[in-house]
Amino acid sequence: MTSSVASRIASLSRRLPGGVTLVAVSKFHPVEAIAEAYAAGQRVFGESRAQELALKVPALPADIEWHFIGHLQSNKVKAVVPLVHTIQSVDSLKLLRAIDDEARKTGKVVNVLLQVHVAAEETKFGFSPEELAGIAAEAAAMTGARVTGVMGMASNTDDAGRIAADFAAIKSCFDALAAGAFAGRHHFATVSMGMSGDWPLAVDHGSNMVRIGSDIFGERQYF
Ligand SMILES: *Cc1c(COP(=O)(O)O)cnc(C)c1O
Repeated sequence: MTSSVASRIASLSRRLPGGVTLVAVSKFHPVEAIAEAYAAGQRVFGESRAQELALKVPALPADIEWHFIGHLQSNKVKAVVPLVHTIQSVDSLKLLRAIDDEARKTGKVVNVLLQVHVAAEETKFGFSPEELAGIAAEAAAMTGARVTGVMGMASNTDDAGRIAADFAAIKSCFDALAAGAFAGRHHFATVSMGMSGDWPLAVDHGSNMVRIGSDIFGERQYF
């Protein structure tokens, strides 16, 4: 019998165009749910809290590619860097520098995405498009933190026009960096945008990485 998690992953995989990576957002879901997704072939998972990540990583297979997607405080960088493949939520130069320092110190290269803030909510984290332009040269020169693209979220609204405009703005930040400070860097290639409620629109606007939680695992369990 296939689990509901397995069947939801299968149906998402059928709907996602080729070249779009599915990050299964497993935050607030137990290790057993992640193991079900793993058994269904899923290998890329997203977590948003350092402590939760540290508990889950040793309990699950070593070939999982873990992505950190939550707001990360600089004092948690040391704990998170050895556990992850990618930190998607780099929202300040201070954090980026801390990740780069820690990675170089430990002889690891960590992929990072620069988080772009275009949404209506002030509470969301990330660089404005202008700030991004200002830090791009320094970011591109780093050797411990390897910048592989951008991540962003659309406004939390029912207005599909606003959501589409937000995704287009995130994609144009990516395009500007790809033609500017990151020109010729083949590893600068990821546009992470789209969640359970809005991923088809994100893909229409150039996303090649979607981060999907509730559509795979159901309601989050706040354990
Ligand atoms: C929780 C979260 C997601 C997944 O959200 P769903 O609506 O459950 O798909 C995606 N991206 C980020 C940054 C998140 O924090």
